[in-house]
Amino acid sequence: MRYLDHAATTPMLGGAIEAVQDELGRLGNPSSLHTAGRQARRRVEEAREELAAALGARPSEVIFTSGGTEADNLAIKGISRARVGVDDRRRRLLIGATEHHAVLDAAKWCQSKEQAEITWLEVDEQGLLAAETLRAAIADDPDSVALASVMWANNEIGTLAPVAELAAVAHEFDIPFHTDAVQAIGAVPVDFAACGGDALALSGHKFGGPAGVGALLLRRDVACEALLHGGGQERDLRSGTPNVAGVAGMARAASIAVNDLVQQAARLAQLRQRLIAGVRDQVPDVVVNGHPSQTLPGVVSLSFPGCQGDSLLMLLDGQGIACSTGSACDAGVARASHVLLATGVDEVLARGSLRFSLGHTSEDADVDAVIATIGAAVERARRAGITSVLA
Ligand code: PLP
Repeated sequence: MRYLDHAATTPMLGGAIEAVQDELGRLGNPSSLHTAGRQARRRVEEAREELAAALGARPSEVIFTSGGTEADNLAIKGISRARVGVDDRRRRLLIGATEHHAVLDAAKWCQSKEQAEITWLEVDEQGLLAAETLRAAIADDPDSVALASVMWANNEIGTLAPVAELAAVAHEFDIPFHTDAVQAIGAVPVDFAACGGDALALSGHKFGGPAGVGALLLRRDVACEALLHGGGQERDLRSGTPNVAGVAGMARAASIAVNDLVQQAARLAQLRQRLIAGVRDQVPDVVVNGHPSQTLPGVVSLSFPGCQGDSLLMLLDGQGIACSTGSACDAGVARASHVLLATGVDEVLARGSLRFSLGHTSEDADVDAVIATIGAAVERARRAGITSVLA
């Protein structure tokens, strides 16, 4: 198989597999007072320190979660509830238009169940969200804002946000700033302290750790209400026995990925350019989405006029190539991706989009396979499209 879907999940790094395996053979609930418990606790704290060091955070700022989705939910719901609790006027959530559903749907839930209001922050045609857009949204009514949330790197088109600038604008108005950095960790430099944000979501399986474990980095001075109640673990913000093997593997993956970042990013950026150029040779009317330079090194979003993305995906899958469509499937009907629509791509073209994403195991042969297959696949998908219109 040629795997070009690393943004969905990437293979675990060898060092992370070892860390998980070592831990699986050990015993102890980190909350237990006996020796085995205290040892387990120490290993969780070592993982916390290792993760924090890789990401420019303090260990006490790391709240382990079950993944990126939970970290985003905790930030959006937890921080906004705490803000409304102090001042009932603060009901407005400022949310990037191209956020992942973990943020989008958490915000919409607050809107439907907790009388929150959402102000969508628009992006330009390359997916960039300007600091001025955030400033204008706040300036409308600064006292009504609960929080702002803008993703560090977009999972569909790869566009990066000017996170430090955005956080600085939010702070001018004393507004907490959350960023979903799930796709950024290990791909571009991420330093929690330097970016100035208040909360940052990450997920182990996106950078070579195990799935089902993640973290919210949360500054100590930011009020947040727990979503899960119980044993009081993780600063009483996320009760539940920690996944010791998971956090050990995730922390190890973070150190390795961050350490290899510069070299990997240069390698992936070259592969990405070759992929784009090669596909263009085969399909001259292909449209490349996203930003030409402010982008993840490994993500390529392409729209193929006259094609359905899911037909194209299945044709490529038949040739042993794994990638993603840019669309969400809603009750069996392919819908255009909200990310592409937010950048102004028209709905029909958006439905003909694919995401190829590269990672640490990607090699020239993966790109060669796409270039060798894409021309014929697009032709077949176009014919299929015409046939279905006629039928
Ligand atoms: N945020 C972004 C940008 C993502 O790409 C993803 C996963 O695709 C998530 C959040 C959710 O992460 P998890 O799979 O760990 O719940």
